[in-house]
Amino acid sequence: MKASKMLISTLKEAPQEAKIDSHILLLRAGMMKAQVAGVYQFLPLGLRVLHKIENIIREEMDNAGCLEILCSALQPKELWEESGRWSKYGPELMRFTDRHERDFCLGPTHEEIFTSMVRDLVKSSKNLPLNLYQIQTKYRDELRPRFGLMRSREFLMKDAYSFDKDEAGLDVSYQLMFDTYNKIFSRLQLHFQPVLADTGNIGGNASHQFMALSEVGESEIVFCECGYAADVERAECQHGKASLEKLLPLEEVSTPNQRTIEEISNFLRVDTKKTVKTLIYHDYANKELVAVVLRGDREANNVKIVNILNSNENYLELATDEEIKSLDTIHGFVGPIGLKCKVLVDEEVTLMANFIVGANKADTHYLNCNYGRDFEGIVVDIKKVTAGDLCPVCGKPMQQKRGIEVGQIFKLQTKYSKAMNCTYVNEDGKDIPMVMGCYGIGVSRTLQSIVEQYHDEAGIKWPLIVAPYQVVIVPINYNDKEQKALSDFLYDSLKNKAEVILDDRNERPGFKFKDWELIGIPYMIICGKRSNEAVVEFKDRATLVKEEISSSEAINRVLESISNIK
Ligand code: ATP
Ligand code: MG
Repeated sequence: MKASKMLISTLKEAPQEAKIDSHILLLRAGMMKAQVAGVYQFLPLGLRVLHKIENIIREEMDNAGCLEILCSALQPKELWEESGRWSKYGPELMRFTDRHERDFCLGPTHEEIFTSMVRDLVKSSKNLPLNLYQIQTKYRDELRPRFGLMRSREFLMKDAYSFDKDEAGLDVSYQLMFDTYNKIFSRLQLHFQPVLADTGNIGGNASHQFMALSEVGESEIVFCECGYAADVERAECQHGKASLEKLLPLEEVSTPNQRTIEEISNFLRVDTKKTVKTLIYHDYANKELVAVVLRGDREANNVKIVNILNSNENYLELATDEEIKSLDTIHGFVGPIGLKCKVLVDEEVTLMANFIVGANKADTHYLNCNYGRDFEGIVVDIKKVTAGDLCPVCGKPMQQKRGIEVGQIFKLQTKYSKAMNCTYVNEDGKDIPMVMGCYGIGVSRTLQSIVEQYHDEAGIKWPLIVAPYQVVIVPINYNDKEQKALSDFLYDSLKNKAEVILDDRNERPGFKFKDWELIGIPYMIICGKRSNEAVVEFKDRATLVKEEISSSEAINRVLESISNIK
């Protein structure tokens, strides 16, 4: 490819809305272009990277015996009613009505479609196990689309669905996908960590996420040296022993204007760990107010809460002051004693003694409150685990990191096959629901995660395996006869063996170098003053090492690196 024929649309400055390095660089390097919030067009260079990532995924899925298909993004409401998700999925589902008043959605995921397809096509157990996948565009009306391809409203996903005769079969299919994901993300050279995960909107009873480790990741994970690793939405922890303190009598204290846990603990000069907070939520799915009782320094874990309430994160909000008042209490002074609503109590609170709670009247708290004696509730795990909490497996303190969720796999079991009648006939002639798994990779999010892990101030540093082009030849001055001759020679020598660009543009050398550093081509061969001796400068984008070598050595280096791509 000649640079003069390429659509190179690099920008000096990134558009304002781009906040993180990878988003800024993808826009500045002209890999993609923003359309409206959360919607992007891939430009020629970006599309080449996307295709390479897709192909690695495709190769590994095919190696694992999965079969590729391609479904429409358009999905009829009827199938979503069969699974029960039309009403449950919430406002993220992009719905619309056609000219005949039929309701549709643009698929955010494809469980319903694959389940209905397999129900129609597969009757005999001879066809099982079966794992079908596609690489296809998904739509989610995200509340806050941001960070470019990380959280967009239209994105490319690889989704796969496995169908087995029984649980044992699902275990095998699931493990095979777990191993396949490890291969895919390793080949893509991501620094990643598989973690235990919540099953969210998809359902089922076991799940792992694959996290690309990054400070800008929206997910938090906790992990332990023993190997336990989990998304904080899902993470559990061990607790110390129950307090042995003698229970003291409940005592009312005046706490004028002391509303937050910090204010109260400062005012009463106690550790926040000696306080307990009570949050009131409105669960719109079940149309009720719910109290959540946690140790004062803890954060509530909304995912655990909606799982317990059989609700949905989109339908759970903190109650308004008015709603709190309707429970005969007052914002800032809410406590668990005598509350007239469903009360969820974090299990840790039941191990505490003589703690401080709101007294449900203005400017007042109680000292020496105790679970069981002063109030009761449904005892559950509803806290967000953090660094320092004790590992649920080995009891050692855990550490915390941030990650970008690039993939997730789920054991769905019979959630969809039962609801949608996707069965096979067993030896006794009985209809048995198939046992399903589903497996997603955010292809476009993965692309941006690679940039997040591979860049510097000057631009992207694509790993060779996904780079839009592998090598660029840059003559300092293409009008110089000798430089032109050497550049053309190198280009002709490499063009059938490597993905090579010749920068034949009539631009200043500094301008050209900046472009290729921003775009992130792994190798640059510069033809300058010593072209008459067939000596070039060879620059490695990853290491920034620049060396003068012969043009034949430059060719060999490029070809050798390419032959080492796995
Ligand atoms: P998240 O928790 O980040 O919203 P999710 O758990 O809802 O993601 P899944 O249903 O597991 O996502 O989808 C499979 C994969 O698709 C995810 O692991 C992620 O990589 C990708 N993905 C999901 N939502 C988006 C989005 N809005 N933009 C880009 N990629 C996404
Ligand atoms: Mg997920």
